[in-house]
Amino acid sequence: MNLFSAKNRATIIQNLTTTQFDVLVIGGGITGAGIALDAVTRGLTVAVVDMQDFAAGTSSRSTKLIHGGLRYLKQLEFGLVAEVGKERAILHRNAPHLATPQLMLLPIVKGGSLGMLSARLGMFVYEKLAGVKKDEWHKVLSLQETTTAEPLLRTDNLLGGISFYEYRTDDARLTIEVLKEAVNKGAQAINYARVINFTYDNKTVNGAIVNDVFTNQTIEIKAKYIVNASGPWVDGVDSLDSPQAKTKLHITKGVHIVVDAKRLPIQQALYFDTHDKRMIFIIPREGKTYIGTTDTFYSEDIVHPQITADEEQYLLACVNHIFPSLKLVVTDIESSWSGLRPLIQKEGKGPSEISRKDEMFESASGIITIAGGKLTGYRKMAQRVLDNIAKKIKQTSAVTLAECTTQHIALANTNVNIAFSQFVTSAIAQGITIGLTTNEAQQLANRFGGNVSKVFDTVTQLTNLPTTNLPIVLQAQLMYCIEYEMCATPADFFVRRTGALYFDKSTVNTNGTAVINYMQSVFNWSTIQTQQHTNYLQQEMERIAAKL
Ligand code: FAD
Repeated sequence: MNLFSAKNRATIIQNLTTTQFDVLVIGGGITGAGIALDAVTRGLTVAVVDMQDFAAGTSSRSTKLIHGGLRYLKQLEFGLVAEVGKERAILHRNAPHLATPQLMLLPIVKGGSLGMLSARLGMFVYEKLAGVKKDEWHKVLSLQETTTAEPLLRTDNLLGGISFYEYRTDDARLTIEVLKEAVNKGAQAINYARVINFTYDNKTVNGAIVNDVFTNQTIEIKAKYIVNASGPWVDGVDSLDSPQAKTKLHITKGVHIVVDAKRLPIQQALYFDTHDKRMIFIIPREGKTYIGTTDTFYSEDIVHPQITADEEQYLLACVNHIFPSLKLVVTDIESSWSGLRPLIQKEGKGPSEISRKDEMFESASGIITIAGGKLTGYRKMAQRVLDNIAKKIKQTSAVTLAECTTQHIALANTNVNIAFSQFVTSAIAQGITIGLTTNEAQQLANRFGGNVSKVFDTVTQLTNLPTTNLPIVLQAQLMYCIEYEMCATPADFFVRRTGALYFDKSTVNTNGTAVINYMQSVFNWSTIQTQQHTNYLQQEMERIAAKL
């Protein structure tokens, strides 16, 4: 039985209540997913719960880059630069569709945060520390080369540029692939299951009370070690254990906006100085271009951080400042998202100055909390948590846990011996034989990696059926995501499995109702449940819309 299928929810819940786990992970963002994979591959029994969909917190709301760590150089965090640089290479090998090189231009401008000399020196140090491979070393561009590379850039203050590589990812899909691998290896994971309390044995935590958000059923999950990996919620979860627990986080908000690529026709990604001395990204993706991010302290609703009209205006102004001929306006914004950085509190520091390093804490009752960090460093964060648990196991039972091996674990059925370009070429050829266009086959290969063959199989089955209400390519993805990625609501599908809500809104507008109807028939939803899921999708559409 596939235990990452949304159809098997009842069985998974049954398993969660009847197993004594070694580790219970609270939070199915990238941090919790990484911990689950590391734990299960060391031979531990693992449960993961998330109160929303997996990755619905910060892990679907990032800038979607697997950083080499250049920006940490400015804060002199050399160790972090070296670590994330290596992690980027590991992820690229294990899941190349989730860590794709992206050429990026850093324009050097008069009065900017980096002069040509300091930028070159910084790049040199960064490439050495991060172990950047030679064919991706930076190139220094003259003024003329910079304007040729990006013809619409403003030139009155331009001195030249540096081109280098960052890596693009799909943050939500990365999280889901890591979790999928953990489940393949024996972990039990469930979304829409919220920890509402803990259980104790003589003041030592030994389990959690969990509420099934769909049925309102309450279950108890027993585990020897409990890891709080709930991102921006870690303080809230810790307060369930001890109302006096000291707050650990400074939450900062980061907003991105999306416009059509025709309105912002860039030739590569950009990382540039803003008019108010910050640095932000412009990144092309699937015929759209997104811009971000802001960085401001935040203390309001954590589940649905709002985007304000001022934030949109600010990001538009940043773009218009370096591309004055484009004159982007708020009606150009097609969608947007807002994410919260769970940063470790440091008094007296501004939002962008707080370190992105992770830290681990332990409560008197034994709950291990991990917070801070980056998507990029998730594997090392997990390793640190599991090394800590290994130490405890050794102390209490003299058992030596296996070392971390996640650096060798391919995700999404990736064949690490085949170059990614070769894989995509053969996937396109296979897709064409079953009636897909080149673009469709390529998009599926980029989205599902080595698992694309399963989606292709479904396309073939559907082609032989008389009719479906959905385009076959979309229905095949929906069926795959329900069956193999615990996609339980229409919003899960359109936001975190496909990203369509951000990057392909017309697909949601055209097919939203048919997706809801299909899921209603699969899950046997009542009229009320169907209405709730419809409303939720509608609310998500409203949240991402421009604030006119
Ligand atoms: P989350 O993803 O928020 O996961 C926590 C989960 O815990 C949530 O899904 C939540 O539902 C669940 N939860 C909470 N309470 C409970 C409960 N009681 N019971 C059960 N579940 C619960 N990093 C990069 O490497 N590259 C980038 O480009 C990048 N850009 C960023 C841009 C922005 C604007 C932001 C905000 C962050 C960015 N980051 C980036 C950082 C990165 O996104 C985060 O470090 C990472 O996603 C945090 O993941 P997490 O798993 O710790 O938290």
